[in-house]
Amino acid sequence: MSESAKNPVTRHPKISPPEQDQPEPGLDVRTDPVPDIGLESYQGRERLVGRRALVTGGDSGIGAAVAIAFAREGADVAIAYLPAEEEDARRVVAAIEEAGRTAVALPGDLMDRQYREGVVDAAAEQLGGLDILVNNAGKQVISESLEELSDEQVDETFQINIKSMFTLSRAALKHMGPGSTIVNTTSVQAYEPNPMILDYAATKAAINNFTKGLAQQVAERGIRVNAVAPGPVWTVLQVSDGQPKEKLPEFGHNTPLGRAGQPVEMAPAYVFLASEESSYVTGDTLNANGGTPTP
Ligand code: NAD
Ligand code: MG
Repeated sequence: MSESAKNPVTRHPKISPPEQDQPEPGLDVRTDPVPDIGLESYQGRERLVGRRALVTGGDSGIGAAVAIAFAREGADVAIAYLPAEEEDARRVVAAIEEAGRTAVALPGDLMDRQYREGVVDAAAEQLGGLDILVNNAGKQVISESLEELSDEQVDETFQINIKSMFTLSRAALKHMGPGSTIVNTTSVQAYEPNPMILDYAATKAAINNFTKGLAQQVAERGIRVNAVAPGPVWTVLQVSDGQPKEKLPEFGHNTPLGRAGQPVEMAPAYVFLASEESSYVTGDTLNANGGTPTP
């Protein structure tokens, strides 16, 4: 066995996070343990040199890991996030700049129509164009029963998780040419809905479907559309009512690999789908879920 081959079971620690709670959207920097977004570990290999990317939810968790990885691969990166997440966003902006790339910060709320309709143009304007859109922002809030799940929450979850993808992707296509890519964040929940997050899981199934449909529509323009479906990944989403508090110590333990994933382990999937390396892959979903079987 090669010295350098690391065991995926132990490559990242099996964590048992203490019970904790933060109001939505929460901050990575206040999460225990702090999610690993690759600040220390992600090594770029010049796979996105000169590309210009917008990552929504790029302040924390998976989006932050993707933004940092893209910058270390040579891309200039804009991140979109909620104004309340400024502290997390600063960390990511600093990491992008340390990689020698341009960072653009675009705080705003995807529930706000004006922001939603303008954020892609703002990114393209400040980056001098746009080649990559990562639709990653997401809302996940548990409810015990359908009776407890309000229509207001269903509307918000659908607006943030899937409906915004229509608006942002439409705006991005205006700026995109052959070789451009869109990558959407879906979830293992698309196939295995947890009954406590009916609204969330339904949006994730819709994202897979949207990805396959849009990919066919824009293929002849040389634009590819794919998705990444993470399994349980340790992020503040889980801590801000994404899971029942008492389940946090066991989070991710039921996967075949036996542990939760870290955001940094998702980044290579996005780099692959955003880069030319995946030139014959479109309309697909790459599952990065610790081994749970998918359809
Ligand atoms: P996260 O909380 O770090 O990221 C979610 C981001 O969504 C926030 O940082 C925030 O910027 C953004 N967001 C939420 N509401 C918003 C709004 N109204 N306007 C603008 N932005 C808003 O958590 P994460 O786990 O990294 O989530 C990123 C994506 O990964 C989400 O789409 C989530 O559904 C998906 N996902 C996560 C897991 C997991 O286990 N953590 C598993 C599968 C899929
Ligand atoms: Mg955040």
